[in-house]
Amino acid sequence: MSDVSGDFMSRLVAKAAWLMHEGRVVKISDVLYYVIGRKNRHLVKVEGDKLVCTCNGFKERGICSHVIAVSTIRRLNLEGGYLSEALRARAERELKLMYKQMRRA
Ligand SMILES: [Zn+2]
Repeated sequence: MSDVSGDFMSRLVAKAAWLMHEGRVVKISDVLYYVIGRKNRHLVKVEGDKLVCTCNGFKERGICSHVIAVSTIRRLNLEGGYLSEALRARAERELKLMYKQMRRA
């Protein structure tokens, strides 16, 4: 991760803060979170004591704003009651679509 500059990290943290502030991080289960980005949707999975994201940024660098947002939410225990019911319903609809697409692929 030597190519990860401080600038890059502060952009990631700012984006993670935005995701959290906008209520775009949805807890699906104890080990699965759904993150609604500006353009794409991602799944963040808990694997042991690590978080793994489905986005390209994570694949390339091993870190992304989605993982930062989820780890912050887990650390601060913001889960439960943090998200509106409307957003939860939206996330569930989108998740169902995502699984349908995954099965077709
Ligand atoms: Zn990600």
